Amino acid sequence: MSTVSDYFGSQVFDDRVMRATLSADVYASLRKTIDEGKELDISVANAVAEAMKNWAVSKGATHFTHWFQPLTGITAEKHDSFITPSPDGSVIMEFSGKELIKGEPDASSFPSGGLRATFEARGYTAWDPTSYAFIKGKTLCIPTAFCSYGGHALDKKTPLLRSMEVLSRQALRILRLFGNDTAKRVVSSVGPEQEYFLITKEMYDARPDLRFTGRTLFGAKPPKGQELDDHYFGVIKPGVAAFMEDLNNELWKLGILAKTEHNEVAPAQHELAPIYTTTNVATDHNQLTMEIMQKVAAKHGLVCLLHEKPFAGVNGSGKHNNWSIATDSGQNLLSPGDTPYENAQFLLFLCAVIKAVDDYQDLLRISVATAGNDHRLGANEAPPAVISIFLGDELNAVLEAIETDTPYQGSQKLQMKLGVDVLPKFNRDTTDRNRTSPFAFTGNKFEFRMLGSSNSIACANIMLNSAVAESLRIYADRLEQAGDFESELHEMIKETIREHKRIIFNGNGYDDAWIEEATEARGLLNYRTTADCMPHLLDKKNVTMLTGLGVFTIDELRSRRDIMLENYCKSVVIEANTMINMVHKRIAPAITRFTSDLAKQASEKRSFAPDVTCGYETELVRKLSALTDCIAEKAGELEKAVIGLQDAEDIIAESALIRDTVLPRMSELRIPCDRAELLTAKSYWPFPTYGDILFSVK
Ligand code: ADP
Ligand code: MG
Repeated sequence: MSTVSDYFGSQVFDDRVMRATLSADVYASLRKTIDEGKELDISVANAVAEAMKNWAVSKGATHFTHWFQPLTGITAEKHDSFITPSPDGSVIMEFSGKELIKGEPDASSFPSGGLRATFEARGYTAWDPTSYAFIKGKTLCIPTAFCSYGGHALDKKTPLLRSMEVLSRQALRILRLFGNDTAKRVVSSVGPEQEYFLITKEMYDARPDLRFTGRTLFGAKPPKGQELDDHYFGVIKPGVAAFMEDLNNELWKLGILAKTEHNEVAPAQHELAPIYTTTNVATDHNQLTMEIMQKVAAKHGLVCLLHEKPFAGVNGSGKHNNWSIATDSGQNLLSPGDTPYENAQFLLFLCAVIKAVDDYQDLLRISVATAGNDHRLGANEAPPAVISIFLGDELNAVLEAIETDTPYQGSQKLQMKLGVDVLPKFNRDTTDRNRTSPFAFTGNKFEFRMLGSSNSIACANIMLNSAVAESLRIYADRLEQAGDFESELHEMIKETIREHKRIIFNGNGYDDAWIEEATEARGLLNYRTTADCMPHLLDKKNVTMLTGLGVFTIDELRSRRDIMLENYCKSVVIEANTMINMVHKRIAPAITRFTSDLAKQASEKRSFAPDVTCGYETELVRKLSALTDCIAEKAGELEKAVIGLQDAEDIIAESALIRDTVLPRMSELRIPCDRAELLTAKSYWPFPTYGDILFSVK
C-alpha cells in the first residue's frame, strides 16, 4: 500500500515536477515569474506548456482548461482537448505556450455587472503561475485570472492578486524603516476552516427546498437537536469517517494540506481545516475543497451542504479565515518577537490591523454579505454583524499602558513612555480563546470569523489586505518623513490606540448588551443584511482607498455592488417561489388529506358508537383547518410581495424590498407550516422532518 507521502500532490504540476521536467534555464525563468512576478518569455511558456502537457498526458489527461473564479462565487472551466489532427489521419497531443498563457472563453453568460458590453462578449483568462496547475478527472486545470478586453477584472482572483501586491509593497516600506534590507516580498497567508453538513442523498432528494435553494425553508425543531452538546468533537460515525478518509485522499492528491477534521456543534455538522498557505493558493484550494467535498459525498450516497443556514434553529456553517502576514524568509509579522525592538515592529503591524478593521468595518461586512450568511450573522452561534477585535488580556494591557503612558503591569514592569527600546517584551497569549469575537487575535494571526461556509475567501482577503495596506501606507508616509523615528513611532502607536480602541472588545460578542454598547456608545456599524451594507461599497472613503491602491477601478466596484445585490435578490426570490410551490403542491394538500381522514374516522367512530365524543379528532381538525387557512393567506401575501418587486426602480430599491417585504413574509408563512407539521401524523407529512434529516447519516 502506498503511503500519503507517495501520492501527496501527485496530481499537481508543482515545484518537484517542474524541476524534474524543465531544463535548468526554463526552470529558473519560471521560478523568477512565480517568486518575483517577472514577465514570462514566450519561448519559456512554450517549454513549460510542453512539459505540462507531457506530464498531464502521462497521468491520463486528455483535456485542458483555464480554471477561473467568476463573480458567481464558484469556479468555471471550459475544456479543450489536446488533440491536433495530423495529415496522416492520426492525432497528436499539443499544447502551446500561447494556450497556457491566455484563453478566450465565451464569457457572455458570466455576470459582469455591465463591465462587458455585449459587442465584446469575450473576456480572456490569463495564467496565474503562482498557483500550480493540477489534474482533475481527465483535465489539466490551469489557474487563471479572468478579465474583459477593456482590462476590467471579471473575477475574484485579479483583485486578490492586486491586494496581495499592494500589501507587500507597503509592508516592505515599513520593514525598511526597521532596518530590514533583505526581505523581497511580504506575503499574506490564510488557513480557512471550512464547516459543512452531511446528509443522505435520499433525504436531500425528498426536499425540494434543499434541492432548489440549498437550505430548508420549512421544518419544525426536532425533539433532539444540539442541546446535549454531544456532537462537537464527538466520535465520528462510520459513514462520515469513510467520507472523510476519501475526501482527504482526493485533497492530498491535489496538494491540498487537509489537516484536521472533527464534528461540529450541530448534529450532522463537521469541519475541515487545512494547513495555511499563501492567500491566492489558499483561495484556489478552498474552492477546490468545496467542489471535491460535494463530489466525494455523492460517491458515498451523501450530500454535502455548504449553505450557511441549512436548518433554522440549528447552528449554521461558517468559515474561519485565519490570516497572517510574513516576509519571504518566513518571519511572521504578527508574531511578538524576542526583543523590544522586534516587539515595536510587531506592535506597529498590530496597530495597522486595528486601524484597518476600524476604518473599514463596512468593507469587511460587505466582503461576507450574502443572503445565506445574513441568516447566520447575529444569530446566537455566529459572530454578530457588528465587527470588533479581540486581543486578549495581556496584549490589551500593553496597549492600555502605551496609551496612558503608565507602567505596563505585565510580567515586567516597564515604563512605556520613552522610545522604542522600552516597548515591552511579552508572551504570546494563546490560552484565552474568545469564540464569540468576529475578529480575534490568536497569538500570531487574526481569525476573521464572519465568513459564510459557501463564501469564496477571496473577497474577505481582498478587503483585509487592502485595508491593512492602506494603514501601512499612511504609517510609512509619516515615518519616512520623521526626524526622530523612535518617538514618531511611539506617538503613532499611541494615536492609533486612542483613535481606534473603540473597535477592541474582549467580552462576549453574543451578548445583546454588547450590540447596544457597540452601536450606541461606540458608534460601530451594524449592517444586519446584505441590502443594508452592499450600497456602502461605493462610499467615498471606500472608493478612494480601493482605487487609490489600485485594487479596483470605480467601474469594477460598481459592477460588483450590482452583481452582489442581484445575487441577493435572485436567491431570495428563488426561495420565496420554492416556498409558495411547496405550500400549494405539498403542504396544504397533505394537511387537508390528514384532516379529512381524521373527520372520516371520527364520523365512523360515531356511527359505530354514537355516544363517543371524538374530542381529539374534532380539536385537531379545527386546529389544522385554521392553520391551513392561515397558510393560504400568508402564501398569498408572499406572492404579492414577490410581484411587488417589479415596481422597484433599481437593484438597490429591489434589495430593500426583499429585506422589508419578501423575507418577513417568508418567515410569517413558515410559522403556521411548522406548527402544522407538529400536529400532522408522520405518514402524511410530505417530506422528511429535521429529525429524519439531521440524524440520517449512520
Ligand atoms: P483552531 O482555531 O481550530 O483552534 P488553529 O488555530 O490551530 O486551530 O488553526 C486553525 C487554522 O489556522 C489552520 O488552518 C492553520 O493552518 C491556520 N494557521 C495557523 N497559523 C497560521 C498563520 N500564521 N497564518 C495563517 N493561518 C494560520
Ligand atoms: Mg479556529
